[in-house]
Amino acid sequence: GAESARRPGVTVDSSKAKTSLEALKISLRQLRWKEFPFGRRLPCDIYWHGVSFHDNNIFSGQVNKFPGMTETVRKITLSRAMRTMRDLFPLEYNFYPRSWILPEELPLFVAEVRMLKDSNPSWKPTFIVKPDGGCQGDGIYLIKDPSDIRLTGSIQIRPAVVQEYICKPLLVDKLKFDIRLYVLLKSLEPLEIYIAKDGLSRFCTEPYQEPTLKNLHQVFMHLTNYSLNIHSGNFIHSDSANTGSKRTFSSILCRLSSRGADVKKLWSDIISLVIKTIIALTPELKVYYQSDIPAGKPGPTCFQILGFDILLMKDLKPVLLEVNANPSMRIEHEQELSPGVFENVPSPVDEKVKVAVIRDTLRLIDPQKKKKKDAQCLLYPGIADRKLQLKPVKIQVKYGMKDKQHKHHSLKLSLKLKFYLKLGLCQGSEQAPGAGEEPPDTALGPEAALPSLCLKQVFPKYARHFSYLRLVDRVAALFIRFLGVKGTTKLGPTGFRTFIRNCKLSNSNFSMAAVDILYIDITRRWNSMGIDHKESGMCLQAFVEAFFCLAQKKYKALPLHKQVLSLIEFCECRLAALHGKRLVWGCG
Ligand code: ADP
Repeated sequence: GAESARRPGVTVDSSKAKTSLEALKISLRQLRWKEFPFGRRLPCDIYWHGVSFHDNNIFSGQVNKFPGMTETVRKITLSRAMRTMRDLFPLEYNFYPRSWILPEELPLFVAEVRMLKDSNPSWKPTFIVKPDGGCQGDGIYLIKDPSDIRLTGSIQIRPAVVQEYICKPLLVDKLKFDIRLYVLLKSLEPLEIYIAKDGLSRFCTEPYQEPTLKNLHQVFMHLTNYSLNIHSGNFIHSDSANTGSKRTFSSILCRLSSRGADVKKLWSDIISLVIKTIIALTPELKVYYQSDIPAGKPGPTCFQILGFDILLMKDLKPVLLEVNANPSMRIEHEQELSPGVFENVPSPVDEKVKVAVIRDTLRLIDPQKKKKKDAQCLLYPGIADRKLQLKPVKIQVKYGMKDKQHKHHSLKLSLKLKFYLKLGLCQGSEQAPGAGEEPPDTALGPEAALPSLCLKQVFPKYARHFSYLRLVDRVAALFIRFLGVKGTTKLGPTGFRTFIRNCKLSNSNFSMAAVDILYIDITRRWNSMGIDHKESGMCLQAFVEAFFCLAQKKYKALPLHKQVLSLIEFCECRLAALHGKRLVWGCG
């Protein structure tokens, strides 16, 4: 208490928190941070938004949303990003169901399904059609054959994703369920990802049967959305974490473990799914980020809690259904007291999971801890990547020096020594079980009373297993470099030409006229199917497609990921050489 009284409190603007307000308030009370429910004239340390980065105009501090996240995780954009990654790394990205974008890929969908059926006559698939930008199961339906797509009406105006339906999900109590896991994207550059150790499992309310023409329309059997199943007479509200229609994920894990399932392997598969998915999303996010918060200009830093919806297959393989930019953080639910009379009642299961996620997110982004860490990094840069070897015994401080210079020197050394010793203690606590978590700072009053962090760092902790997948990130870096005027997300024809020229990609076989044709062809196609018509020019995905084309042309015999890697290295080399030349000319 005395410690926290001495510290000026962290200030949080909660005026735009919307439905996450209750959980946020509880978290702030636990941390004893200062809430500004109606906003504040002076800047706050943290802005908590319910919907988007743009809810407030902010120029400093930290905000809990990234610009462009909602657009990046929309069903169509996510499907495209996953397909790009699957084209590069088919084995690594097989956790996302095969998907097609409607209406433009309808012919492809029909042709591929026919081909797959011809090659495997016993394959009797079901597909799920999901409108883009939809949520809570809105407009979703199942079909057995591509010809069943309802092309009339909405599909032309409202594009959709059609996806292979997972017919054999894992059942608990004969019911289908999915998992909502909370993932914290703490930073984009450098990439930092945390996963909450507990999540929610949302249950269907009709016993599951594999899809047949007769049961396809039974939403309470096939769709796990809480917002749908709550309307079923079978929905069970429960205050206990391991019964009812909404339970904690940990209670499911306990149950699976008691059945002899390999829960450790399941967790490691889930971690890998989450990291790979975020790696697929980061290129697009970086384009939005530089456009909204140009480097060198004042702006907030961002973090975001994402909701991952995951389905477990019978063999315990996790499958990604979707990523939510604004997962519900509500901790109460509506209850019908008498016909037509509703009341909000607390939901202990939601509160247990969601308050911990919000509170621990705040603990991880605590600006006061960050200031302390930054100060340490300034003095001893090795601390940041934890390469610094602490060897305080090697420091020898000589006492009894008379002259001014030596006095100063010995004082500096003794300060260093104190600093090393303090760090030594810190390092010790990092070796404790649950490594990868930030150690609680014992100097912080309220922290001492809090449980250990529910968020586990998975990146950069496991970076060495996944970094080879970050190819599109490097393509995006090239794209951003040639965007030119800040504030745009699309590349104009001149920018594309400059990219080709600077990287020396044009030659007698690939003239500048051919470059222009490539630009026009790909850009026109992407813009005709795009959702974003605000800007003209080549979007990142179109650039990625053009880049893959160039890579395939240049490095013929290699697999795609090697072709792309070779072209990235070629371009990076050319640009570094050009940059070097410019520096020399600049000096000359
Ligand atoms: P929404 O954003 O509308 O909730 P989702 O993609 O989460 O859309 O799908 C809604 C529900 O449909 C999921 O919670 C899940 O129960 C079911 N579902 C979605 N995709 C599949 C799939 N490929 N296979 C099996 N079930 C699925």
